[in-house]
Amino acid sequence: MRNLQRHRRIRLDFEDTPISLAIWWIRRDLRLTDNAALSAAAHEHDAIVPLFILDPALLNSERLRGPRSAWLFDGLRELGSDLAKIGGRLIVREGQPTALLIEIAKAIGASAVYFNRDYSPFAMARNRKVRSALESAGIAVYDFKDVVIHEAGETLTAAGGAFSVYSPYRRAWNALPKPSLLPMPSRLDTPAAIDSLPIPAASDFGSERAEAPIAEPGERLAIERLNAFVADGIYGYAARRNSPGIDGTSILSPYLRWGMVSPRQCYWAAHEAFESATTKDARASVETWIGELVWREFYYQVLARNPHVVRGAYRPAYDAITWEDRPEYVAAWQRGLTGYPIVDAAMRQLNRTGWMHNRTRMIVASFLCKDLLIDWRIGERYFMTRLLDGDLANNNGGWQWTAGTGTDAAPYFRIFNPTTQGQKFDPAGDYIRRWLPELSRVPDASIHEPATMPRALQDSIGCVIGRDYPAPIVDHGVQRDRALALYQVAKNLPPP
Ligand code: FAD
Repeated sequence: MRNLQRHRRIRLDFEDTPISLAIWWIRRDLRLTDNAALSAAAHEHDAIVPLFILDPALLNSERLRGPRSAWLFDGLRELGSDLAKIGGRLIVREGQPTALLIEIAKAIGASAVYFNRDYSPFAMARNRKVRSALESAGIAVYDFKDVVIHEAGETLTAAGGAFSVYSPYRRAWNALPKPSLLPMPSRLDTPAAIDSLPIPAASDFGSERAEAPIAEPGERLAIERLNAFVADGIYGYAARRNSPGIDGTSILSPYLRWGMVSPRQCYWAAHEAFESATTKDARASVETWIGELVWREFYYQVLARNPHVVRGAYRPAYDAITWEDRPEYVAAWQRGLTGYPIVDAAMRQLNRTGWMHNRTRMIVASFLCKDLLIDWRIGERYFMTRLLDGDLANNNGGWQWTAGTGTDAAPYFRIFNPTTQGQKFDPAGDYIRRWLPELSRVPDASIHEPATMPRALQDSIGCVIGRDYPAPIVDHGVQRDRALALYQVAKNLPPP
């Protein structure tokens, strides 16, 4: 944290005594507990203006038009009511952030703006622009590490760069002391004289709610979910996390995405679970979960130090791949109509809930690039329009990992077979039947390859292939060979 200068105290009309006033600029940190910017602002100032800026340039973008912005608006409503309980008031304004921050700070006499840093190239450029404009206008700016436990600059390789391999990154991450939890302000006064817009309805920015959201937003629910998970689920995580048909993961990702829970809170809760674990396996399972928090931060440091990944391959040689232009394949994949049940179940889960299990994220991503031979960026973009947890660093990292264009050493020949993946990770077809009701009566023996059912069986169970459920749109064996050829041509790679 920078040294906080002494803040001027101003006299507001509605106050008898002079107070010092600051703006807490809320971005992806919709919580009151363990919030670096808020905690520092509340410590230094008598009154705080919690300000959320609706930036039309962002909210009208294609990537935010899906259910994620509806979830954000509902989350803002929760934050507003949490603030009211400690005397504060959420202020919502619409416009270009730099100009608005200066205008509001000047109008209300705020001496400083506090916010938590983000790491996309867009956010980093915006941070710099805001800082220099505000400082030129005589307003102090304090920004904080909050989205991650360790930033890119803390975990450098011996050569001083970002890590491109997870294991040494994790060792470097583990070796660093962990920041403590920060106090929540017990009271937060927001001057009454400041106007606010109402929190938008989802439709105001052309967004719509997920049909059956995987989770409801808000800090209270996030903490409840974290507490429930570390009390029990975390100990079986290592064994259960790869089965999409069971509730084996924390489903904290939408909350982490919007800062309704902090990574520090997750880390310390897991640490406590580790201390209370009674078996070696239970401790290992906790460590596996912490390892996922580390993956999250691994991708933030990749993005912060390699901004080119936003547009193209981490390893640019892979930008030479000539992907296929098959809009009908993309549409079938998006709608969950490829004829590969595990892929279709996963895409329907995404479309209905705004979330998808990690195992099936890998399966559908591999299927798009390596079976349909479609550019991974098309899939990445679609995920961003549908995911409640859609996050540039992690989404891009996950897509590039699966496409084989990313940080992983030699992964282009890792091609998932969608049928055997289904057999291995959803053996009884529970996940498939849950999301594909048309396959509910398909016997276990055929659930991963319904097109192989004899016609008489199809008729008797009312699931005729081609009528009720599609035949596979491509042949995996054929496409696998084509994918390998495509990747080798692109990079002139030796055969695996
Ligand atoms: P848990 O298994 O309980 O893990 C706890 C937390 O660790 C998660 O909430 C998440 O913050 C982090 N985490 C877990 N797995 C990963 C991982 N592989 N990479 C990075 N962080 C991880 N995650 C996102 O948060 N946003 C995305 O947009 C996103 N897009 C993805 C796209 C693809 C193609 C792939 C393969 C993965 C993507 N992931 C993304 C990572 C991962 O799938 C989700 O974080 C995870 O499924 C969230 O479920 P959970 O909260 O139950 O995770």
